[in-house]
Amino acid sequence: MLKKNMPVAEPYKIKMVEPLTMTTREYREDKIKTAHYNTFLLKSNDVYIDLLTDSGTAAMSEYQWAGMMLGDESYAGSKNFYVLEQAVNKYYGYEYVLPTHQGRGAEHIISKLLITPGDYVPGNMYFTTTRAHQELAGATFVDVIIDEAHDSNSMHPFKGNVDLVKFEKLVQKVGATKVPYLNLQACVNMAGGQPFSLENIRAVHEFCQVHGIKIILDATRCLENAWFIKQRENEHAHRSIAEILREICSYTDGCTMSGKKDLLVNIGGFLAVRDPKIYEKACELGTLFEGLHTYGGMAGRDMEAMARGLEEAIKEEHLNQRIGQVHYLANKIQEYGVPIVLPVGGHAVYLDAARMLPHLSQDEYPAQSLASALYVETGVRAMERGIVSAGRDKTTGLNNYPKLELVRLTIPRRVYTNSHMDVVAYGVGLCQERHHKIRGLEMVYEPENMRFFQARFDLAPKKHKTKADNQFSAAKSIVANLSPSLH
Ligand SMILES: *Cc1c(COP(=O)(O)O)cnc(C)c1O
Repeated sequence: MLKKNMPVAEPYKIKMVEPLTMTTREYREDKIKTAHYNTFLLKSNDVYIDLLTDSGTAAMSEYQWAGMMLGDESYAGSKNFYVLEQAVNKYYGYEYVLPTHQGRGAEHIISKLLITPGDYVPGNMYFTTTRAHQELAGATFVDVIIDEAHDSNSMHPFKGNVDLVKFEKLVQKVGATKVPYLNLQACVNMAGGQPFSLENIRAVHEFCQVHGIKIILDATRCLENAWFIKQRENEHAHRSIAEILREICSYTDGCTMSGKKDLLVNIGGFLAVRDPKIYEKACELGTLFEGLHTYGGMAGRDMEAMARGLEEAIKEEHLNQRIGQVHYLANKIQEYGVPIVLPVGGHAVYLDAARMLPHLSQDEYPAQSLASALYVETGVRAMERGIVSAGRDKTTGLNNYPKLELVRLTIPRRVYTNSHMDVVAYGVGLCQERHHKIRGLEMVYEPENMRFFQARFDLAPKKHKTKADNQFSAAKSIVANLSPSLH
């Protein structure tokens, strides 16, 4: 019997290939040791399948590469700027567009413009650079995402939603004049790529209207968010991604964009707004920090590639395959009985390292150990999202103990085939099978900031359990009592 649905294959064929490095287990054992058991310190040449990040790692199309040859590198008024401006007007609906070198350039400018020191900026969870720029401008970030986002057991379909009760509490406490805007992130990265619903953003918009609070959208993964709305919010199932995107943006005052994600380019971004006064000021700051307002730190050819990437990324067949591939990998991994975070988001699969390596205490860095082991077994590169990433408490100097020890497998757009995903899943299965052989680590060098990028490790000696470990084991046994679908 044929299956009911046509399988989803890549909606493109391959014109140019980039050879991958195949290495031996012995070779990789040596390389991970040299990299001090930190996958960030590996050379990409020693990696077979690179799932470190989906940022700036997409494959461009022939249409984008052809556009690169149309680069107009005039200092002012490049024709490619107008192509980009028109594309953003058309699809996102914002009138004014300022290119930036990447997303954080736009975050820098909008934070400086809208924040007065002492303000509060609520957000549906945070993103590292977004929050850093808000704090640099003198604001305090306040998390107003729904509780389900912090609960890996919750199967809520829109874990990126704003909790209006939390938001209202903040406004009542500090006063609306102290809240210049809500930063609304699409497909919340730190929550695992979880979307917000259209119903939620409509309600948030209504609330903001009443209180005179702006909404700045982090549109970095908004196309993927629109896809989830179409899939999961029944009343929008018949609408196009373009229509849904337009409606999301219509409730917001502007957006920051990292073109390195949704928009299928290796570098670039923009700030887009509706208010001409904000735009004028943004141009002044942009000129100072990024470049003149018609290039803003981007080459003409790169603006062309981003405009064309947008046209391609909004197509449903692209999003079906892109997010479909993430879910394909998740299903394969689950077939090996490996625990992952559910529901699966739009850009990555998260392995539950604490449950895969129950013999390790959190002080032995289970996620870091698993990421190293996965590299040794298969040459696949992933990223730790656990105690190493969580860093230390700024005031006490003690380690933060996050509830979860995760390894993130992030899928670049249009780069790998599902055969690569089969290899990745097999490698994860292999780690699961050999889990008892995976040894813990100890940190031998710890940088002060963002330690996960540069930290160095060694294999840990055997040690007895600490109080923190016992707390962690208790947390793990709670996680172990999940619905069977998690297994
Ligand atoms: C990557 C990212 C950014 C920052 O963009 P860069 O292009 O890396 O500067 C901002 N927000 C989100 C949600 C991101 O994923």
